Amino acid sequence: MDDFEIVDFSSLSDTVQSLIRDAVKIRKKAYCPYSNFAVGAALQTDDDPKVYTGVNIENAAFSPAICAERTAICKAVCDGHLKIKRIAVVAHQRGTFTAPCGVCRQTLTEFCASDGDMDIYLSKPTMEKVLVTKLSKLHPLAFVSYTKDSVIAKV
Ligand SMILES: [Zn+2]
Repeated sequence: MDDFEIVDFSSLSDTVQSLIRDAVKIRKKAYCPYSNFAVGAALQTDDDPKVYTGVNIENAAFSPAICAERTAICKAVCDGHLKIKRIAVVAHQRGTFTAPCGVCRQTLTEFCASDGDMDIYLSKPTMEKVLVTKLSKLHPLAFVSYTKDSVIAKV
C-alpha cells in the first residue's frame, strides 16, 4: 500500500462498512456549537467485537475540547481494551477527507493493535468513497516511551 488509497465504500468488508455506518450515526451526537464541525469515530479492538464510538465535544473555553477519536478511545480503555485494530473517522469537509489531528495520532499510537499498527478509514457522511490507510502511514516515527521498543532507539 502507498500512504493511502481511496476506494468505493461497497468494496470494503461488511465489518468495515458497519464500523463506518456506526461513525456516521454517532456523528449526529457531536457537541460542536462553536465550530459546527461534527466528527464521529468508531473503533474496534483486538480482543472484543464491540464497537466503541465517539464524537467531538467542544467547550466554551475551547482548550477542554476533545476529538471524536479520543472520546472513543477513552470508552474502550475504560472497558479494559487497549489494543485498537481499526478506526473509522467521519466528517464532512469539502474536497478532502478529515484525518485525525496530531494529538489523536499520538493517542492512537499509544493504543495500537498487537501487531503495532492500526487500520484507519476516513469517510464522509455520504459513504461513497473511503480513504484507507494505516496509522504507521499517518504517524511515522511516532514518539514512544523509552520503556517501549523504538525504531529510532534500535539504530
Ligand atoms: Zn484529534
